[in-house]
Formats: sequence, C-alpha cells, structure tokens
Amino acid sequence: MEYYENLAEMYVGNDVSPDFYAWVFPKCDHVAVGTGTVCSKQNIKLYQQGIRKRVLPKIAGGKVIEVEAHPIPEHPRPVRVRGRVALVGDAAGYVTKCSGEGIYFAAKSGRMCGEAIVKASEGGQRMIGERIRTVAGSV
Ligand SMILES: Cc1cc2nc3c(=O)[nH]c(=O)nc-3n(C[C@H](O)[C@H](O)[C@H](O)COP(=O)(O)OP(=O)(O)OC[C@H]3O[C@@H](n4cnc5c(N)ncnc54)[C@H](O)[C@@H]3O)c2cc1C
Repeated sequence: MEYYENLAEMYVGNDVSPDFYAWVFPKCDHVAVGTGTVCSKQNIKLYQQGIRKRVLPKIAGGKVIEVEAHPIPEHPRPVRVRGRVALVGDAAGYVTKCSGEGIYFAAKSGRMCGEAIVKASEGGQRMIGERIRTVAGSV
C-alpha cells in the first residue's frame, strides 16, 4: 500500500489483457490489482496472474485479501426497489455500455434517490417503502 498511496497505474499488453487495460488502484487501506477483458473472458485468470507478475516487485510482501471477478453491470436491473431497499449506481446496473463509465450515474442516481426519499418521507417524518411514488418516479 505504501508505494501506491498517491499513485494509480495502468498497464497494457497481451500478458495482462488482449483488449483492455490492467490496473493498480489504491483503495482506502489496500490496493486493487486487476484487469478486464471482453473478448477473452475464459482466460481472465491468466491475465490476473499476468498483472500480478508485472507489479510483483512493488507489491512484494503484501497479502492477498480477496480475489474476485465480475461482469460490468451495464444492464439496469429489472427490479431496483424492493420493500425499503433501493439500488443505485453499479448495484442498479447503471454503467454505460459503450465506455464502461459509471461514476457519474452512480453519483446522479444516488442523489436522485436520496432527494426522492427525503421528499416522499416529508423530511423523515413519514415511513415510506416501494409503494410510494413521487414525480421523479418510484422511490
Ligand atoms: C478498473 C475500473 C476502471 C473504471 N474506470 C471508470 C472511469 O474511468 N469512469 C467512470 O465513470 N467509471 C469507471 N469505472 C466504473 C466506476 O468505478 C463504477 O461505475 C462506480 O464506482 C460505481 O459506483 P458505486 O458507488 O455504485 O459502487 P462502488 O464504487 O463499487 O461502491 C460500493 C461500495 O460499497 C462497499 N460495500 C460493498 N459491500 C458492502 C457491505 N456489505 N457493507 C458496506 N459496504 C459495502 C464497497 O466496498 C464499495 O466501497 C471503472 C471501474 C473499474 C473497475
């Protein structure tokens, strides 16, 4: 973590991904060492090994705390409100298909959802759930 405290890295090359980039991004108290691919998903483990190998000198001595792989959440989930739970951002599937960008939509949907909840609950005075509807849509 020390090395990457104020640093993010991107790597390209067939050893880390044939069609995307690999990265080392600092996150709170650890680093995310990752890669992505659309055209060669079956080889994702190879590319994960590839990026780990590339950055090995810089992360040596570190402990692997989690290994994960996910599809990009680019399809809005058919159900985004259930009971008193509302999904926003990646959890709701709000990543742009063409670019893989989701920061704006995560912030925007979080704000819209929060504002709608404040409005429908009359500033927290009234209990609300999925059956409440506002002008902006369902809460
Ligand atoms: C390598 C990479 C590059 C990207 N580049 C871009 C880019 O250039 N531009 C762009 O717009 N988007 C980019 N994205 C996508 C963008 O990062 C996401 O769309 C965005 O961060 C989604 O925000 P979010 O708040 O919905 O989810 P997240 O940022 O994933 O936040 C969810 C948070 O919830 C926490 N969490 C999970 N489970 C629990 C739990 N049980 N209890 C408490 N906390 C929990 C997680 O630790 C996390 O901090 C990129 C994604 C990746 C992986």
